[in-house]
Amino acid sequence: MRKFKLVFPAIFLLCQLSFATAANKAATFSRADLAAATTLRERALADSKAYELVASLTTEVGPRFAGTPGDKAAVGWAVREMQRLGFANVRTSEALVGHWVRGEAEFAVVTPWPQAMPAAALGGSIGTSSEGIEADAVMVQDVAALNALPPGAVRDRIVFFGNRMERTRDGSGYMRAVPVRATGPSAAAALGAVGVVIRSIGTSDHRFPHTGATRYSQTAPRIPALAISNPDADALERQFASGKPVRLRMNSSSRDLPPARSANVIGEIAGSDLAHEIVILAAHLDSWDLGVGALDNASGCAILMSVARLIRELDLKPRRTIRVVLFANEESAQSGSIAYIAAHEAELPRHVLGFEADFGAGPVWRLSSRVNPAQVPAIDQIHRALAPLKLVRGDNAARGGADLDGLAKLGMPLIEPGLDGTNYFDVHHTADDTLARVDPGAIRQSVAAFAVSVWLGAQYPGTWERVITPKPERR
Ligand code: ZN
Ligand code: ZN
Repeated sequence: MRKFKLVFPAIFLLCQLSFATAANKAATFSRADLAAATTLRERALADSKAYELVASLTTEVGPRFAGTPGDKAAVGWAVREMQRLGFANVRTSEALVGHWVRGEAEFAVVTPWPQAMPAAALGGSIGTSSEGIEADAVMVQDVAALNALPPGAVRDRIVFFGNRMERTRDGSGYMRAVPVRATGPSAAAALGAVGVVIRSIGTSDHRFPHTGATRYSQTAPRIPALAISNPDADALERQFASGKPVRLRMNSSSRDLPPARSANVIGEIAGSDLAHEIVILAAHLDSWDLGVGALDNASGCAILMSVARLIRELDLKPRRTIRVVLFANEESAQSGSIAYIAAHEAELPRHVLGFEADFGAGPVWRLSSRVNPAQVPAIDQIHRALAPLKLVRGDNAARGGADLDGLAKLGMPLIEPGLDGTNYFDVHHTADDTLARVDPGAIRQSVAAFAVSVWLGAQYPGTWERVITPKPERR
C-alpha cells in the first residue's frame, strides 16, 4: 500500500511530463530555423541600414504631422523605400486624418514676478482669441486633486497641473503621468476653468516643452491648453510657493483645418506553406510637428523595415507572410489603425501574430508577450535564441502599442521585444527629437532582437492560438 502510494504519483507525474514533452516537442523550432535566427542576429548586429533609414526619413522628409505636406511626403518616401528594399505587394491604404495646426503659443507669468516661458500647445487644443487669456491661476498635481477642490475653486481661472513624470525603463511612468495631458483640460473646463497649463509629460531638464494629444470630452467646453518644460514648471511652482496670488497669461493660435487624406503604407515578405497567415509588424509613420520624429517614430519604422529586409536578403522564405504596416496619424487619433481594421475586415482573423515598435531606438532589454498560455513555451524558446543579447524574460501581460490595439482586442497574440525607454521621454514629442538622439549601436541591437523574434514567430511549428483574456483599456 505504502509502495503504491509512492509509485502512483510518480507514474502520474511521469505521464504528465511525457504529455507535456510531446506537446512541446511538436512545437519546437527546427535546427534550421534556429540557425537562421543566429545568422539574422549576427547580420543585424553588423548592419547600419536602420540608422540610415532614420537619417533618410528625418533629413528628406523631416516633420510629418497628419494632414501636412510632410505627411504626404512621408507616405511617398515609405512606398519608395519599401520598393527599393524589395518588399512584395507594396501599396497604400487610405486613411482620413484630422488636420490640426499648432500656430503660435505664448505663455507668461503676470504676477507675482512677471516672466515669459516657452510653451507648446497640446495637440488638438483650441486657440485663444487674439487678445489671449489672462486670469488668476490655481495649481494642482493631477485630475484627482483637481476634482477634490471645493466647488467654484477654479471657476474663471487658469489651472496649472504640476504632475511630474517619473523616469522608468518600461514606460510605466509615462502611463501614470499622461492622463493629465489627455483629460486634464476637459476636467478643468467642466469645473469652469478658462485655460490649462501642464508640466510637460517628459523627463527632460531642457527647456523644450513636450506636446502630445489632449482629448476633449463631449460634455465640457473646449478650453485652450499648453505645456511648459520641467525647469519652467519648477520656476512656476516656486512662484506659487511664495503664497502670493499667481496670475497667468496665455495665447495660442491653434486651430483645426478640414480633414485631409493620408495613407497607411504596406509591404510584405511573402510566406510559403502558411502564406495565408499574417505576422504584422506595426510602426507609425507620422510624427509631431515640433521635431523630426527620429525616435518617435522613424526608429520604429526603420527597425521593422530592416527586419523584413534582412529576412528577404538572406533569402529565408518565411512560412507565414510578414507584413510591415507603417500607420498614418497614430499621434493624434490612431486614424490609420482604425482605417486598417475597417479596410481589412475579411482578413483580420488571418492576422495571427503582431509586433509593434513605437518606443524609440533601443536597445531591447526584455522579451514580453501577450499570447495564449499554450504558446508561452514558444516565447521561452525565442528568449533562449536571444540569449547572446542578454534580454530579461518579461511576463505574458504585454501592454502592446496603440496601433495594434484593435487587433489585440480581437485576440491577436503579441510578442514584445521591449525597447529601453529610460531616456526616451527626455526628447519625446519635443523639438529635440532628432537624429542626434539615435544611438547607432542600440538600433542595430534592436533590429537583431526584433529579427530573431519575428523570424521565429513566422516559423512557429504550432498554431498561434487567439488570446482570450480581454485586453485592458489603454488610457
Ligand atoms: Zn509614437
Ligand atoms: Zn508619439
